[in-house]
Amino acid sequence: MRIKKPLTAEEAQKKRNDAIRRKKDPDHKAFVRRIVTVSVSAAAVFAVWMCNYIAPFRTWVPAYRFSARGADELRVHFIDVGQGDATLFEFPEGDSILIDTGDGSFENEDHLLRYLKGVAPKSLSVVLTHTDYDHSGGLSHLLEYYPPDAIYFPAVGDFTCYQTADIPVDYLSRYDVLTGSGGAYAVCLSPYSTEEKTDNDVSVALYLRYQNTSFFLGGDISSVRERLLLREYALDETLFDSGEYTVRLGGVDILKASHHGSSYSSAEEWLSLLSPEIAVISCGADNAYGHPASEAVARLGRHADIYRTDELGDIVISVTAEGYSVMAKEELWIS
Ligand SMILES: [Zn+2]
Repeated sequence: MRIKKPLTAEEAQKKRNDAIRRKKDPDHKAFVRRIVTVSVSAAAVFAVWMCNYIAPFRTWVPAYRFSARGADELRVHFIDVGQGDATLFEFPEGDSILIDTGDGSFENEDHLLRYLKGVAPKSLSVVLTHTDYDHSGGLSHLLEYYPPDAIYFPAVGDFTCYQTADIPVDYLSRYDVLTGSGGAYAVCLSPYSTEEKTDNDVSVALYLRYQNTSFFLGGDISSVRERLLLREYALDETLFDSGEYTVRLGGVDILKASHHGSSYSSAEEWLSLLSPEIAVISCGADNAYGHPASEAVARLGRHADIYRTDELGDIVISVTAEGYSVMAKEELWIS
């Protein structure tokens, strides 16, 4: 057994001096600083994790602010989602259809989400043209953070992995018509049948019309599908006419260049038929696929003025009874 004796005054003073020396020691100071930094960082990470658990960050992203839309104005937004597609039809009464959802990468989805929050459509339907990731990758984020009212898939392929119990789903095939307010409508021209092989050519291709302005958006179709449509047009120029809804391929105003301006799409004969005034190319800067191909850009450029999302960012076309215009950024954005 050891007896602990009280320190003498001299020993107590020595102990105090040692403690003061340790505190002044640079190694000791650095050690304490490290402990404090690690503790604060751990607490911050935990706090962030807790906040995200309670309300995911995606729900916090601020909305973009757009200029007010006219009562009879339709806007078509070619949203810049890098290498991919996301095109929003914003109909006159605020009902909307989003064609494709981008690739789902954080940056692109953040932009798409802020965009949708800014537009704040009265209702939102989503059309997936096909399953390629640059078109469908953002759907799961959308389902989580901006659930649409309905989803449409092409009538070819398996889309069960995208389905949720509470959102109605339907399948698009030839001559199905999606209607918007103000008399706007979009006719599905492809896929042709449910028996087709799943590839880019079974992308949902849409002819959109409002007032006297028409658009063609073909997803990732190639010149093979363009030739099929051309052949039909040669047999009967009235490709589709239900009385209420018509398709006139001979002269569309705005073409969304299929497959991001791939050289295998936008064939010369196809462009001669459509003779668009404007061609929009949705692609990412310096993308790995080399989109758009210089040959396709040259062909498109012989017929139309080209607008590219990799150069201009978001491209918005406004349509009214008077015609259409490509909106300048200052016209579109409040902030
Ligand atoms: Zn694509």
